[in-house]
Amino acid sequence: MYLSINQLVIVVYSILVHGYQKGNGKMYLLPMIQLKLIVLDGQLKQKYSTKVEFDLELPEFRTKRGVIRKCNDVVVAPVLMWVKALDLALDKLRASGCDLSLVAGICGCAQQHGSVYWKNNASDLLSNLDPGRFLHADLATAFSLMESPVWMDSSTSLYCRKLEDSFGNSEKLAQTTGSRAYERFTASQIAKVYDTKPGIYQITERISLISSFLASIFIGGYASIDHSDGSGMNLLDIKNRKWCGEALEAVAPGLKEKLGEVVENLTVLGQIAPYFVQRYGFNPECKVVSFTGDNPASLAGMNLGAGEVAISLGTSDTVFLSLEEGTGGLLGHVLCNPVDSSLFMGLICFKNGSLTRERIKNLCVGESWDKFNQILETTDVGNYGYIGLYYDLTEITPHIQGEYRFDPDGNLISKFPAPEMDVRACIESQAIRLRLYSERLGYSSGHSSSILITGGASSNTAILQIISNVFNAPVYTLDLPDSACLGAGYMAAYALRQSDERIPFYDYINQISGRKRCLLCTPDETACVHAIGIKVP
Ligand code: ADP
Repeated sequence: MYLSINQLVIVVYSILVHGYQKGNGKMYLLPMIQLKLIVLDGQLKQKYSTKVEFDLELPEFRTKRGVIRKCNDVVVAPVLMWVKALDLALDKLRASGCDLSLVAGICGCAQQHGSVYWKNNASDLLSNLDPGRFLHADLATAFSLMESPVWMDSSTSLYCRKLEDSFGNSEKLAQTTGSRAYERFTASQIAKVYDTKPGIYQITERISLISSFLASIFIGGYASIDHSDGSGMNLLDIKNRKWCGEALEAVAPGLKEKLGEVVENLTVLGQIAPYFVQRYGFNPECKVVSFTGDNPASLAGMNLGAGEVAISLGTSDTVFLSLEEGTGGLLGHVLCNPVDSSLFMGLICFKNGSLTRERIKNLCVGESWDKFNQILETTDVGNYGYIGLYYDLTEITPHIQGEYRFDPDGNLISKFPAPEMDVRACIESQAIRLRLYSERLGYSSGHSSSILITGGASSNTAILQIISNVFNAPVYTLDLPDSACLGAGYMAAYALRQSDERIPFYDYINQISGRKRCLLCTPDETACVHAIGIKVP
């Protein structure tokens, strides 16, 4: 079954969405979790979209923003809530008039790192789903752990240290698995389950990531974990794209069997389960393509070409790039690339993004971004040698908190000669940080380099001009409301293209979607940024 102009790709998408709400003069971060289904047509344009918001539509699970926060940094989500959300979303999609018999393929993505524990004999339940019943009714007894640990959980420091110690140190673990040990990564989460709930571990026949758990439901059997999402576990040898025996052994006995084989991204896992054909009218020929994590799917959605780096200026600032080398270090994360099995992807996230910019704006000029931009546009590049670093929240990289201002001689000072100098200092130091750490991850600037910008601050050309100057590269926008969602759709379409089409993902997506980038700024040739006297940790 191949995509044609009137066939559709369906995408299942389950992710944390950050939103903001104003109240009492303050801004609150409001992460809302939802499960979203989108349907793309043969030209990769969105035709239908539906979502289920966990807190609002499934209040019986008593989640707040899609999760349950327990004591001691434990954060979980009820696995049956995700199943029930899928029931509801599919019903809504059918009710919206979407003819599901036209769907050629299904792919999806989900928040990374979270794990799902299937009970002994759950595969029988999966392969015998009754089309007369809801999924959540048939799968009610399929899980050994009813509450899945999710990425916000940070209760596993002990197991992180044990894993790093078993490798000798954190750097060695990062070189093999792409990241040093992180509390949210699946290895330490599984180690905790094994250690604190050995009975549960024992009756678990399969452990999925959230992405492969969703794919399992669609194929009516266990779906393999893909290389990219698997890179967020501290368990995959990312260069050899195989489970790393040393890590598996350090985590729990018999883990390899419980994880199953890993599979290349873009693999057609099989046909949709009869349940969906009979209950929703899907075509029995509809193919299910391996699901992946939200970050790799975002990279696919942005369709990064060689030499391009994508920067999301959102709540936090995140850098994505395609890499030729797969050697992880202590900074950021290196993952298998979701759309080219010979490549890798780099990812680094900074907590102090828009919130810090906004605080400096409020402090210096009040509510108006226009006034903030006037200062940016009328002050000198390099801020007369004054530099400011602002970490409102404890930063991930570097691990630091507080405000640091330096005079042109590199002396630490408590304030600048003029208070509005904080405006340029903030944006310049954030842009330098983005370039510095992109380079440490493997980005190298050259004639063909360009920056793709997304996120809330991407509408601010004064900020983008500084990024363009610092990177010495043109800046383009991507008009993408939901790059992860779209990326999963692109992955389905590419995996289902005609087998004789030997065309790289990048060209295929550009050809089919006819998507154009919009040039926003080019580097100011007179710009020269003085990164003087500062040793960045
Ligand atoms: P999220 O990462 O939560 O998805 P967004 O990408 O929507 O967030 O970005 C939200 C942020 O965008 C807000 O914190 C706001 O400060 C910032 N923002 C919105 N408009 C502008 C602007 N004109 N200039 C700079 N920042 C902006």
